[in-house]
Amino acid sequence: MRRPAPPLASSSLGDANRAAYLALLPAVSIWESPPRRPPRSGGLSHTLFTNRGYPGRALVRRVLLATPRGFCAGVERAVETVERALGLYGAPVYVRKQIVHNRHVVDELQRQGAVFVDSVDEVPVGGPLVFSAHGVAPAVRDAADARRLETIDATCPLVTKVHTQARRYADAGYAIAFVGHGGHEEVEGTTGEAPDAITLVESVEGARAVQLPDDRPLAYITQTTLSIDETREIVDVLRARYPQIVAPAKEDICYATTNRQRAVKELVDECDVLLVIGSRNSSNSKRLVEVAHAAGVDAHLVDDAGEIDERWLEDADTAGLTSGASAPERLVRDVCEWFRARGVDDISEHGSEREDVVFRLPVELRRAQRSAA
Ligand code: SF4
Repeated sequence: MRRPAPPLASSSLGDANRAAYLALLPAVSIWESPPRRPPRSGGLSHTLFTNRGYPGRALVRRVLLATPRGFCAGVERAVETVERALGLYGAPVYVRKQIVHNRHVVDELQRQGAVFVDSVDEVPVGGPLVFSAHGVAPAVRDAADARRLETIDATCPLVTKVHTQARRYADAGYAIAFVGHGGHEEVEGTTGEAPDAITLVESVEGARAVQLPDDRPLAYITQTTLSIDETREIVDVLRARYPQIVAPAKEDICYATTNRQRAVKELVDECDVLLVIGSRNSSNSKRLVEVAHAAGVDAHLVDDAGEIDERWLEDADTAGLTSGASAPERLVRDVCEWFRARGVDDISEHGSEREDVVFRLPVELRRAQRSAA
């Protein structure tokens, strides 16, 4: 039997947030038949939310939402770039690799007419091609030019900054230790800027073992979506072994990665389990799980509400919820709805930091829009 969504009888959400939250909920609840769970024996006590019509014990007492979470400025820009390119050129618009590492985002853009390819060779000569937020190596740009593709570069400006640093250090004769994870597209793209100068360092053990040249000045750069704490350890090892090593004035780990990890650190002090919404290949989402684990809190990465296993929450009083930089906010709302359908009324924001970073759309797109106008 389908029932209308029961009202939020008592929520810790602020009035404005709560109104916005309610307005965005589907008119009809996905609540088919609320699961009944046997009363807990011992352990934490939970409020009985009979006022919402929930027939049993709430799954957890409360849910805390990490703030900030979800889309960063680079992801917003990349997704909007594909959507605008579709409006400009019509379908299909080709995108090299996943525009951002999120299955739901990719599926939605596919529905709109985007075609995701692994190689520029798959794009018809002269066709429109968007480079993903993770960036590409110069060799990829050359291959696209050779096919006379209409390229639009949706590389996040903060990734481009790391490319520029790599090129500058390499041009100045430096050997570069690049702290990052092999196989990630961002790492492949940055390494492609100066393959002969760059040595990848993936871990503390890697930093202990790496042999950097002793006949050249040394520098290190990092991937944008790493663990702040682990990167600090890696850099400490590099600095201890190579005291002369230099780094860019401002660190490469981006503001969004930093803020989301900080928000989770603050959140896990107050929760028993953390759910992170993000895809398996999302580097910054995986780091959020690691942050919780490092604090001794159980954490799970899920693509959406459908992947949550109630058993993870069996002994929890408070569940934390966050989302990686490529996960749309509607997935967070779906998970809130999932909790509400299990009797949880107390869903509140945790943290107050707001982000106001906005990146301009790619220059090629702005130019094409002007011409079309
Ligand atoms: Fe850019 Fe950081 Fe977002 Fe990656 S996570 S797209 S580097 S802002």
